[in-house]
Amino acid sequence: MDEGRFPPGTLLAQRYRVVSLLGRGGMGEVYRANDLLLGQTVALKFLPAQLTSDEGTLVRFRNEVRIARQVSHPNVCRVYDIGQAEGSTYLSMEYVDGEDLASLLRRIGMLPRDKALEIARQLCAGLAAAHDKGVIHRDLKPGNIMLDGQGRLRITDFGLSGIAGEVKDIRSGTPGYMAPEQRAGNEVTARSDIYALGVVRSEEHTSELQSLRHL
Ligand code: ADP
Ligand code: MG
Repeated sequence: MDEGRFPPGTLLAQRYRVVSLLGRGGMGEVYRANDLLLGQTVALKFLPAQLTSDEGTLVRFRNEVRIARQVSHPNVCRVYDIGQAEGSTYLSMEYVDGEDLASLLRRIGMLPRDKALEIARQLCAGLAAAHDKGVIHRDLKPGNIMLDGQGRLRITDFGLSGIAGEVKDIRSGTPGYMAPEQRAGNEVTARSDIYALGVVRSEEHTSELQSLRHL
């Protein structure tokens, strides 16, 4: 994979030393970095300029992060803070040393039944904790589900796609996982997340469904 906008070693916000580019998604680039102040590894997600250039959107983004920070659960990726570096807004969060479910399913295909069940259990627990705080994910999909080396699952990107949905040209939600009301542009609720969870669950069992979805 290429290095992205910030090569390894780059110092950001006088605090974070870039280790590597972790991935690229619908919103922007995600980096692994060392927080030099606290001596910890973090993940930094850079948001697209269109999303943060408008004051109104920025206010809603801060709101979304404020709410997301209230969720504290072993199966939900911790959101730390937001900040500015090199003219872009970033979100700092817990670094998950592992693999996302999309890449895992690509690599090994179908999951064994006990593994799939264990994943489902953690997925439900994390989602329920967020819903309890009134936080809706809006873009639950294998790419936003990370598994670490110990088999612990973290759901990432809570609430972020709600903001993306307000900005033209930025993908919000992922069609194959979206509930009918979300596709239709109607109100998105906790039930829409549960629909997406159902699609993810079916993929853990059969990779055939995955190809069907893209027809
Ligand atoms: P998407 O959710 O559309 O796949 P993202 O921009 O959210 O894209 O993330 C890109 C990739 O970066 C993910 O697929 C994942 O592999 C990695 N990633 C995202 N968040 C984290 C994190 N907190 N810790 C480790 N890796 C992450
Ligand atoms: Mg993501």
